[in-house]
Formats: sequence, C-alpha cells, structure tokens
Amino acid sequence: MPTYTIIAPIYNEIDNLPVLYRRIREVMERTGESWEFVMVDDGSTDGSVDHIRQLAEKDDRVRPVIFARNFGHQIAVTAGLDYSRGEAVVIIDADLQDPPEVILDLIQKWKEGYEVVYAVRETREGESWFKLATAAAFYRFIQRITEISIPLDTGDFRLLDRKVVSVLNQMREQHRFLRGMSVWVGFKQTGVAYEREERHAGETKYPLRKMVKLASDAVTGFSIFPLQLAMYVGFGATGLGILALLTTIVLRLAGSRALYGQALTLILILFLGGVQLIFLGVLGEYIGRIYDEAKGRPLYIVREAPQIEE
Ligand code: UDP
Ligand code: MG
Repeated sequence: MPTYTIIAPIYNEIDNLPVLYRRIREVMERTGESWEFVMVDDGSTDGSVDHIRQLAEKDDRVRPVIFARNFGHQIAVTAGLDYSRGEAVVIIDADLQDPPEVILDLIQKWKEGYEVVYAVRETREGESWFKLATAAAFYRFIQRITEISIPLDTGDFRLLDRKVVSVLNQMREQHRFLRGMSVWVGFKQTGVAYEREERHAGETKYPLRKMVKLASDAVTGFSIFPLQLAMYVGFGATGLGILALLTTIVLRLAGSRALYGQALTLILILFLGGVQLIFLGVLGEYIGRIYDEAKGRPLYIVREAPQIEE
C-alpha cells in the first residue's frame, strides 16, 4: 500500500491535467515515499477522460475513477476517498488553485502527529469580489448556527489520516459537505496557511447555483436551526398580534378611528402569508433530504474504476 494518496476531482479540466500531473509527481517524488494519484473524472465532456487514461497507462501510480455522469464536486471527492489506499490522503483541486507544493507542508504536520491538516487560504488571487464576500459571510454564518466550528477560509484542500478517512467512508449521507464532516469527526486537527492561486486554465465549475446548493447542504447537514427559527418567529408574531389586539381595543374604546382600513389588512396577510410560505420551504428542504436518504441510492456510479483490494 502506498504511503500517500492524492485525490483530484476533475470536471472538464483538460488544459490543467498535464501541469497538474507533472507538479504532483515532482512534489511527491521529493517525499521519497510511495504514493498514488486517484484522478476522479466527474463526467467530463472535453477529453479529460482520455487524458487520464493515457496518464494511467504510462504511470501505474495514477488510478482513474471514471463516473458515468456528472455527480458534483463533493461526490467526486467522496469517490476518491473510497478508492484511496494511502496512510495519509490529500484532497486537491485539479485547477492548480491549490499549489501542489503545499502538500509537503501538510505532510510535515501529519508527521508531527496531526490527523486532519487543512490548508487555510491567506490570499486568493483572481477571485471575484462577489465570491470573496459571499464566501466570508457564509463561513461566519455556518460558524454561528452549527455546533461544529469549521475553520474560516478553508476549502477541501487538506490532508486526512487513514483513521479519519475510514470514519468518513462510513458516513454515506447523500448531501455532503466534506469540510464540515472532516471537522465533525474530531481527531487532532491543525491548519497550514497558503496562498491560493489563480486558476491555471479554464473557468470555474462552481456557478452561483452550485454554490447555493453547497451552502444549503452545509446548513441542513449540520444544523436544524432554520427549523427552530419558525418557532421563534411564530412567538414574535403572536406577541405582536396580542399587542395589536389590545391596542386596538383601547383605541376603539377611546373613540379613535386609527387602524381602520383594508390596506393594513392586506399588508399583514401578505407579510404573514410570505413568512409561512418561507418556513414551508425550509421544511421542504429538510423533507427533501429525508426523501433522498430514504431512497438509499448509491452516491455515484462508476464507468470504470480500479479494483478495491483488501
Ligand atoms: N469539480 C467537479 N465536479 C463539478 C464541479 C467541479 O469535479 O461538478 C471539480 C473541478 O474540476 C475542480 C474542483 O472541483 O477540480 C473545484 O472546482 P472549481 O475550481 O471550478 O471551483 P472554485 O475553485 O471556482 O470554487
Ligand atoms: Mg478552482
């Protein structure tokens, strides 16, 4: 079994693959220990698959896992964890935003005895103002409403000890937020600072839609706060209602004509109707996730993958 496994999820990254492979190889050769590179193709349509196969033919440390279709980044990483065999497993993006050289720093912390070593983004080149601002707000929000504390400014670029990978591989939830899950499991954790670079080639595979999905998986996967919020808002609205009722009675008895009129009624109906529908939607998010779990489908389907030997 190799000492290290590197996992890269790949979705249409053809122009990044040659450089990615070369830099990973150079870095891993410097460790002087054995390693493997699990390249998970997440339904690419740009020829990435053929390139991965060619690399695997030339270098048998490259182990391709090819999905039958696009399942999403978190699921691709999950498959990488399933097929990894190393004592320490490193998850890295395929677009070279996470410089492979940082792996050596992660390994060093692992050798000091840490079991989860996450890479913390010091600076981020070439990312939009919008992405940075939403990411910052999102991490702080998660921190606040969940019981686990996910370190700020971390992504999935991290090293996991085999012990941690074994536990994660038993957590088969459909909607996955791996950077939360790898904190939730506990163990000895630490961070290493690094400079996040610009994408080497191509463009982001994370449009707003996927970012919103990841955010909602993070929230619903680790917190029932949105469900409880309905109760707090309900108490608040009921309290205001009672207050309004009493005020109206007093005003009427005093002969005032204040608070008459349809406009007020209309506004209140729309407002409360809106609040109720929003919380119905929140309920729907959780029920939808129960439904997905109940179906018990596999997390992903592979077209081709290495044998998992014991
Ligand atoms: N990715 C994937 N499946 C997807 C979307 C992305 O495997 O459906 C991979 C992508 O190829 C890259 C990594 O996930 O290696 C991170 O994606 P990206 O760089 O587009 O995200 P960003 O860095 O912009 O947040
Ligand atoms: Mg990227």
